[in-house]
Amino acid sequence: MNNYDILKRTFAVSIDKSNIGQNLMFVGWIEDFRDMGKIGFISVRDMTGNFQGVVTGEILIKLREIPRQSVVIIHGVIKESKAESFQVEVKVEKVELLSKAANPLPIDPTGRVSSSLDKRLDSRALDLRNSRISNIFKTRSNALYLIRKFLTSKMFVEVNTPKIIGSATEGGADLFGFEYFSKKAFLAQSPQLYKEQLTLGLERVFEISPYFRAEPSHTVRHLSEFVSVDMEAAYLKYTDVMDFIEELIISTISDLYTNHNIQMKYFGESRDILPDKIPRISYEKCLEDLKSLGEKIEFGEDLSDPSLRKLGEIYPKFYFIVDWPTKLKPFYILEHEKDPELSKSFDLQYGYLEIVSGGTREHDSERLKNKLLEKGLNPSSFSDHLQAFEWGMPPHSGCGLGFDRFMMILTKSTNIREVVLYPRDTERLSP
Ligand code: ATP
Repeated sequence: MNNYDILKRTFAVSIDKSNIGQNLMFVGWIEDFRDMGKIGFISVRDMTGNFQGVVTGEILIKLREIPRQSVVIIHGVIKESKAESFQVEVKVEKVELLSKAANPLPIDPTGRVSSSLDKRLDSRALDLRNSRISNIFKTRSNALYLIRKFLTSKMFVEVNTPKIIGSATEGGADLFGFEYFSKKAFLAQSPQLYKEQLTLGLERVFEISPYFRAEPSHTVRHLSEFVSVDMEAAYLKYTDVMDFIEELIISTISDLYTNHNIQMKYFGESRDILPDKIPRISYEKCLEDLKSLGEKIEFGEDLSDPSLRKLGEIYPKFYFIVDWPTKLKPFYILEHEKDPELSKSFDLQYGYLEIVSGGTREHDSERLKNKLLEKGLNPSSFSDHLQAFEWGMPPHSGCGLGFDRFMMILTKSTNIREVVLYPRDTERLSP
């Protein structure tokens, strides 16, 4: 490729006045080039930031032939800068073209010429040369790391369950099916049954993985493939799981602001997403709140998107909705002993947006079979799952956190497609 030892490169972010007089090597892409005739200024960016290079003579002539966004090696001497935005600049002594970019490009990654989200997603790799966009994905990586660190510190074991499954686990709807050798198989919509079984031997498990829903949704919060952070723990109650989730949300967001603020600043200066505490509001109180806003919902009805948007006006930040009607919840959720119409369940909301759903699970095999029948499901289709409940299944609770939706909040994005590299929805299957 070239004769230089690339590991000796200097990153843009690391140069300051202490480097004045040094001859250094940089690698990056040309973000901008201003040709003033006898002198020119280039802005070169790498994964850490950008620097200004000053060019004259032969190099200026050479640069006129190199399109913006091309990848170059730059050798130059560090000088004090007169520019306001840089302490130092690089007097360029040599430029080597590593990879030439097409001209014109499908989008302008600097964002000076704006492009629609669809056009940007069509050229996603190039879109990542925009600092705000690349910082979304650096934040995504940091948040995943922090969540793993948090759950590991609470003694959760990270697991991987199959995404190719042989039966339509949670009721059959909304699954992508496909031919699997001579059988029919499906893409997993959640790890629900596996993670519950795993509490039998591992007690506390979590899984971070993509899941698949064949819902023909056309919203800014649904994708056909999304990443979920699932957790399940023996002996815990749903209220304990809420405690963990509350701690996880607060510790993740405050760590991002404390240790990764360079990235978080791209999403605004305000830290209003960071809660002190997350209130717990019962489903029944939500009905009262909605009634006071003129919306009458009968007990047992689900909260529709317009109702959740109204509720979001009263509770615009994080809040739990707890104790949902049993009939709205899946077969594996346990009901309250004193009032079986209410379940030991919760959703974590951010305004109108549901982020987490969880609850205490039914762990008694006979009652679980009855629940399946009540929901119109056939227990024999769940025989693999039910047998584990004969082997000393501990009481357990857990939840699933929609990681892409959490990312929408962290980066203050209004469309889930902004925070997913290559989103999949009813229309989009490529790139
Ligand atoms: P919704 O009512 O918003 O469609 P859901 O009730 O179907 O969500 P669950 O099955 O409870 O969601 O899944 C747990 C979490 O996974 C949700 O709270 C959400 O954050 C996330 N999630 C579920 N479906 C999707 C999807 N299609 N796209 C993105 N995230 C999703």
